[in-house]
Amino acid sequence: MDRVINFNAGPSGIPLDVLKKAQEEFLSYHGLGYSIIEASHRTPIFENILFNARDKIKKLYGFSDDYDVLFLQGGASLQFVQIPMNLSTGKKAEYINTGVWTTKAIKEAQIQGINYEVIASSEDTNFDRIPTSYKTDDEADYLYICSNNTIYGTQYKEFPKTKAPLVVDSSSDLFSRKVSLDNIGIFYGGIQKNGGPAGVTMVVIRKDLAERVSDKVPNILRYKTQMKADSMSNTPNTFGIYMLDLMLDWIIEKGGLDKIASLNGEKAKLLYGCIDELDGFYKGHAQRNSRSIMNVSYNIVANKELEPKFVKEAMENGMIGLKGHRHLGGIRASIYNSVSYENVEVLVDFMREFARKNG
Ligand SMILES: *Cc1c(COP(=O)(O)O)cnc(C)c1O
Repeated sequence: MDRVINFNAGPSGIPLDVLKKAQEEFLSYHGLGYSIIEASHRTPIFENILFNARDKIKKLYGFSDDYDVLFLQGGASLQFVQIPMNLSTGKKAEYINTGVWTTKAIKEAQIQGINYEVIASSEDTNFDRIPTSYKTDDEADYLYICSNNTIYGTQYKEFPKTKAPLVVDSSSDLFSRKVSLDNIGIFYGGIQKNGGPAGVTMVVIRKDLAERVSDKVPNILRYKTQMKADSMSNTPNTFGIYMLDLMLDWIIEKGGLDKIASLNGEKAKLLYGCIDELDGFYKGHAQRNSRSIMNVSYNIVANKELEPKFVKEAMENGMIGLKGHRHLGGIRASIYNSVSYENVEVLVDFMREFARKNG
């Protein structure tokens, strides 16, 4: 069976071993005679999967028992709504604007009419960097950031310092590295970029913050509701959670987040190295000190009209998903956990050859 190299930004590639495992036990889960997607979420069979996934996530990151892990639906986008709804007490909420996803989150804060302030933004340079000079307010209801900007290819190396609860959208660098847990209030992400199929949002929340919510907030949109019900207040995405659990096993097998992070660093170094080496033909979008190790966005500055040709020929060579996001154009290679170093080598060889032929 021929598998392509998948550089999609999300949904994206899932390791072949994980897909095979799911295939193997799809018709009869652990010999029970039924598929996991045919199991009730109110049985120990499914509950065990959910509880195990929760524990694995806490262990991988090192979250203490002050935190709960929820598996929600509605995508990362619903979190743009749920976060102000649950966490705003009327004091100021702070946002740092680093791209499309934070812009959307800010818009939702505005729609809800909460008291918020954008304390820094990189919009003036087309979001090519992570802002570095700003003042945070320790008394704020929360400080909201996006850890990795999927479209522009920028990433925080370190999270901002604040005593207010830090809210982090980690959708596109979930499970790619360890993060500092200092003052994390909410750490969340849609799992479809780097943790499995679409349809599950992982939300790690400091338990006390869930108590802030007012009783004007609909039950199903309160974190508290899902915390009390172990994410099963209503039917969760059982198949998605099962796939996530298989992905977590794969990550653990690989040696955990530090191991994965160093591998991801090597992959990024190889790809950025090629872009820099062929400077003048290719050019990366992100400023160097803000470069993402997950999403690498770049242009063919020698001649932008070559970009569709690049994407087409890459496809003919077994590589998909390289077309840049419509907001930025150009080329984007998402090099998530499932993309191997060897896969990036294939891309880099292709890039060199393409530059030689067309330069
Ligand atoms: C993809 C993405 C989202 C949106 O995710 P949905 O699950 O489609 O709502 C939000 N934030 C970031 C950083 C993303 O990459």
